[in-house]
Amino acid sequence: MSFLTLTHIKKSFGPVQVVQDFNMSIEKGEFISFLGPSGCGKTTVLRMIAGFEIPTDGKITVNGKDQTNLRPNQRNIGMVFQAYALFPNMNVFDNVAFGLKIAGRPKTEIEARVKEMLGLIKLDHLADRYPYQMSGGQQQRVALARALAPKPQVLLLDEPLSALDAKIRVSLREEIRAIQRQLGITTVFVTHDQEEALSISDRIVVMNQGRADQIGAPFEIYNRPATKFVANFVGTLSTIDATVADPAQNSVKIGNNVIALPESIGAAKAGDKITLALRPEALTLDRNQGRDTALTGTVESVNFLGSVIRTRMIVDGQHLSFDSFNNPSSKPPVAGETISAHFAPADLLVLRD
Ligand code: ATP
Repeated sequence: MSFLTLTHIKKSFGPVQVVQDFNMSIEKGEFISFLGPSGCGKTTVLRMIAGFEIPTDGKITVNGKDQTNLRPNQRNIGMVFQAYALFPNMNVFDNVAFGLKIAGRPKTEIEARVKEMLGLIKLDHLADRYPYQMSGGQQQRVALARALAPKPQVLLLDEPLSALDAKIRVSLREEIRAIQRQLGITTVFVTHDQEEALSISDRIVVMNQGRADQIGAPFEIYNRPATKFVANFVGTLSTIDATVADPAQNSVKIGNNVIALPESIGAAKAGDKITLALRPEALTLDRNQGRDTALTGTVESVNFLGSVIRTRMIVDGQHLSFDSFNNPSSKPPVAGETISAHFAPADLLVLRD
């Protein structure tokens, strides 16, 4: 049985339905990210799990118990918000102790638990500091300790890194993931940053207009996006218009090339237009590692990005981008040059609406 379940969840604000029909089963100890553009309903679903919003329809359970209509204080859930929501008039110790004091835990237990939590976030030495005396990253670690202190069943993180600078974001996300693993706590993390979601999640829910477009492991979401939206939102890619050549063979025509696709093209008929996609790393200048199909075109631009060189080319009026690793002993292509980019047909993605 799954630990946290959301079944046919809908949410309307007045006449506007912002969560359409959301279904998800989360296992105990899993780290799930809700990924999607601004306004797609990520925070609203999170707030329904916390009890700050009540679904218009549907059911939420934790460990088999119905939570749908419980108030936040009747649920055993810890939450970390985007802005540092620490109590400004309390020092670190009192912030972390807050939930335990409210729950009426004995003083000795509170002291021991706060000490344990501060050890977990490696801030034992700052117990007497006030929020204004700490960096943003330190404040978010305290917010995490405060959420975890009462031993919640589920941890909810609402874009906890978005106010921090790039370097701190990366180190703190790794620290959050390590702590989550150590405690084995079921966690839902909201983000609109695809790299963040890809790097730390067991599974990602890609949300689009109040629905889950795809739920899967990062590898699966990136390599086998279920819809055009997921393919475009997660990572970069080149889209290619193709024409169905022989539906029985799953073959398509791109310019003069006839290519057999690795997956079924469904009910398409010969002559139908379909959209394919290739990730930039699927194309190379060399015919190697099974990349036995080539598209020939003209180099449009070359961007030197350091370790990687991104080349844009035009093939039959369509734009393709590909990445090659920098190699100091071989010169990159130049604009106007005719080149062939090689790929394996298995790397072609068929994009569906
Ligand atoms: P962001 O990344 O910008 O925070 P999000 O995906 O978390 O976006 P939500 O905050 O869940 O999106 O909002 C989804 C939609 O619901 C938005 O159109 C928002 O304006 C609307 N919405 C959220 N809360 C309310 C509310 N209390 N009343 C009316 N509309 C709301």
